[in-house]
Amino acid sequence: MKTISSKLLATSSHVSAQFTTRKGGVSQPPYDELNLAFHVGDTPASVAENHQLLATDIGYVLHNLIHMRQIHSDRVLIADDTMTFESPPQCDAIITNRLDIPLMVMSADCTPILLYDPINRAIGAVHAGRAGALNSILIKTLADMEKHYGTSADTVQIILGPSIHGCCYEINETIANEVKSQGYQDAVRREENNVFLEVNAILLMQLKEYGITAAQIEVIDECTSCHCDDYFSYRANSQNTGRIAGVILLRSSLS
Ligand SMILES: [Zn+2]
Repeated sequence: MKTISSKLLATSSHVSAQFTTRKGGVSQPPYDELNLAFHVGDTPASVAENHQLLATDIGYVLHNLIHMRQIHSDRVLIADDTMTFESPPQCDAIITNRLDIPLMVMSADCTPILLYDPINRAIGAVHAGRAGALNSILIKTLADMEKHYGTSADTVQIILGPSIHGCCYEINETIANEVKSQGYQDAVRREENNVFLEVNAILLMQLKEYGITAAQIEVIDECTSCHCDDYFSYRANSQNTGRIAGVILLRSSLS
């Protein structure tokens, strides 16, 4: 299995933050190999086995994993006892300060985001594509972490995982105008008759406005479409593909 660990959180004890690639699971094409999503048409037994492989690799109890039925919304939920691996909530961001409860966001081009508050010891996982970014889901998640856990913009740490970048994410004029009308024209790039969007640029502008500095942010600078051999890409793989994941976990003990 090939996963990417956060460098930003590497020196923090009792927290683990990782992104998966498509390498190292048991799913057959077009979901090869480490597809983690049940809703994309893959064999459920393969997806379940991939999840168990990842849980063993990172070190958590699979039943405790909270993943999400993601709907491109701005809905942020606090983890509770009703949420388990077998019963995921419908939302696009989840937060907790509970120990040994891993939070997972899945994606195939959208930006998977992991949040860590080292002072109050709280975490979050966020799914932000174009719609989520324009609906400020990341900022809403930070606001909810501040409200419930006291998380400060001065100390929170944020990791943007592998996602489609402006090199490959072509959009139409309607979307380009919508992005511009919200003040994010710097996220739009024109090349001859084509228009491209850098969703991460919108997210980074929002974080800067929220008072978060570059030193608090890590961007895993990998375009999922350019590197669709390593990641699942909804666009590059003709929509029929699997999902990678970001996973963050507060550990009760070093293991
Ligand atoms: Zn690209």
